[in-house]
Amino acid sequence: MKTMSLLMASFFVFSTVSLARMVEREETTVIVIHHSATEQGDVDSFRRHHVGVNGWNDIGYHYVITKDGEIQPGRAEHLQGAHARTGRDFNRNPFSLGVVFVGHSEYNEEQLRSMVVLLADLCQRYKINPLDLSEKGGIQGHHEECPGVDLDILRSLTARLLIQKLF
Ligand SMILES: [Zn+2]
Repeated sequence: MKTMSLLMASFFVFSTVSLARMVEREETTVIVIHHSATEQGDVDSFRRHHVGVNGWNDIGYHYVITKDGEIQPGRAEHLQGAHARTGRDFNRNPFSLGVVFVGHSEYNEEQLRSMVVLLADLCQRYKINPLDLSEKGGIQGHHEECPGVDLDILRSLTARLLIQKLF
């Protein structure tokens, strides 16, 4: 009987934890860009790592930009990601989308082009100003070395594409 209630108790603790991990995001005001810090990889390999090694319910990122410049969807867009708990003194997961470049601070032209296309699409749909530099708005990096690319260039290219899309 004692064993049974212990089992039940641990079951409830476990199910609460895993449910808490897959919550819907209530707002989307930021796009956080990352690098994978790996030479290769795609949505399947990152998902295997995040689920199998980290023990998460799904891949932490919402989109992956492969070395070929392919835009691969990861975690469902409306769900809270697992990618920006660190990097600032507050957790950005509850209000951000996470996008990752495959690579280590250097990206090819296909990847940069795809990133701008994706950013413009997300900015349009979530009404994010790509030039917003506020603490909880716009396009942000994860931390100083991640993604290791000049974000101002990405911001202005995104703004330019967005204007072309709107007019
Ligand atoms: Zn990162």
